[in-house]
Amino acid sequence: MTSPETAPLPPAPTLRERDRAHVWHPYGPMPGRTDPLVVRSARGVRLTLDDGRELVDGMSSWWAAVHGYRHPALDEAVTRATGAMSHVMFGGLTHDPAVALAERLVALTPEPLEHVFLADSGSVSIEVALKMCLQYQRARGRPGRTRMMTWRGGYHGDTFGAMSVCDPEGGMHAAWSGFLPQQVFADRPPSTYDPAYDEHLRAVADAHADEVAGIVVEPVVQGAGGMRFHDPRHLRALREIADAHDLVLVFDEIATGFGRTGTLFAAEQAGVAPDVMCLGKALTGGYLTMAAALCTPAVATAISAGEAGGLMHGPTFMANPLAATVAAASVDELLRRDWAGEVAALGAGLRESLAPARDVPGVRDVRVLGGIGVVQLDHPVDVPAAQAAAEEHGVWLRPFRDLVYAMPPYVTPADDVLRIGGAMVAAARVA
Ligand SMILES: *Cc1c(COP(=O)(O)O)cnc(C)c1O
Repeated sequence: MTSPETAPLPPAPTLRERDRAHVWHPYGPMPGRTDPLVVRSARGVRLTLDDGRELVDGMSSWWAAVHGYRHPALDEAVTRATGAMSHVMFGGLTHDPAVALAERLVALTPEPLEHVFLADSGSVSIEVALKMCLQYQRARGRPGRTRMMTWRGGYHGDTFGAMSVCDPEGGMHAAWSGFLPQQVFADRPPSTYDPAYDEHLRAVADAHADEVAGIVVEPVVQGAGGMRFHDPRHLRALREIADAHDLVLVFDEIATGFGRTGTLFAAEQAGVAPDVMCLGKALTGGYLTMAAALCTPAVATAISAGEAGGLMHGPTFMANPLAATVAAASVDELLRRDWAGEVAALGAGLRESLAPARDVPGVRDVRVLGGIGVVQLDHPVDVPAAQAAAEEHGVWLRPFRDLVYAMPPYVTPADDVLRIGGAMVAAARVA
C-alpha cells in the first residue's frame, strides 16, 4: 500500500521545462517556439551539451568569445579581480581596473581618441555616443542639431536611441513608429567602391546639415543588419563630410573591434579616425558585459564646457571592476598572440570550406572578410533545419533572416574551421 509518504514523486521538471515556464530568450515568444539547447559547460572552442554532445562554436557567442571559453589567463583575471573587490560605484570613486583598461584602449585605438566612458553594454555605449553628439552641438551653440545621420542596413543595438539608427526595415522600425526619433538615412553602402555613393552621402548631409548632430555607422562590416561588407573608402567620405559640417563622426566598432575584420579596428582600413568610437562584444573576451565609448579631446572639451557641465550619463554598474579586469586581460592576451595570423587563418579556412556553397541551389552570395564567413540565400533560412544540419556536423550556428554565417573564436584549430565551413554548406543545403 502506498501512503502519502511513500507515493512516488512526480518527475522533477527538466531544465528545458523550467526554462519554457519562466525564461525569455532573445527576440522570442513566451514560451519559446523551439527548445534551446542546454549547455552544461564550455571550454576552448567547444560547447558541451546536457546530452554529452560537443559542438564546435561557430559564433563566438555573438562576436564576443574571441579567445574561446574558460581561457586560463581570463579565468585567472576574474578570480584575481574578485579577490580585490566585487563592484563599487564609479561616482566619486575610481580603481586600477578601470584606469588600466582605459589606458590600454587609448593606446590601441586611433590616435585622437583619448577619453573613455565605460558603459555596461554595446547598446548603452551607443546611447552614450548619441548623447556625446547632441551635447557637443548644444555646447557649440547649435541646439537645433538633434538628429543623427546614418546609412541603411546598419545595426547598433536594441535600446531606443540605438534602434533609431538601425536599418529602418530590418531594424523593425515599424514596430516602434511613433516612439522612435526620426533620423536621417542615406542609402545602403554598395559592396564595391562607387564614387557616386560618396556624392549621395554628401548630398544627404548638405540637405540636413542644420539639423544633424553626428553621423553613426559600422565601419567596413554591417553586422546584424545583414552581414554586408563595404569599401573602406566610403568612410573617408564620411570623415570629410563630418569635418565640412562640424558633425561628430561615430564609428560603432562593437562587432568589428579587436581584430575581427583583419585589422585591430576596421577604421584602420580607411586610414581615418572617428571622433567617437564604440567598443563592446570582444572587449571582455566574452566573459562579462562591458562596452566603451571613446572620444577625442575636442568632443570632451566642448561637452565639459557646455551648460550641462558634463556628460549626462552614469550607469550603476559603470566601470565594473571584474569586467574591466577581464577586459584588460583579454586585450593583453590578444596582443600577446599573433591575432592577425589567427584571423587570416580563419579567413583562409572559411574561404576554402565555403567554396562549395556557391553551387548550392538558393545561395545568392558567399563572402568572407577577416574572420567572418557569410552564406546568403535568396530566401529566409529554415532555422531549425539549418541548425539541425549544423549540429549533425558537430557545429553550433545561429542563422538569421537569409543568412548562414560564422565568426569563430580566433583560437579555432584549422580542422575545426573546416568543420564549421562544412556545417555552413550543409545548413545552406537544407535551409
Ligand atoms: C551587438 C552590437 C551592438 C549592441 O551591443 P549589445 O551589447 O548587444 O547591446 C551595437 N552595435 C553593433 C555593431 C553590434 O554588433
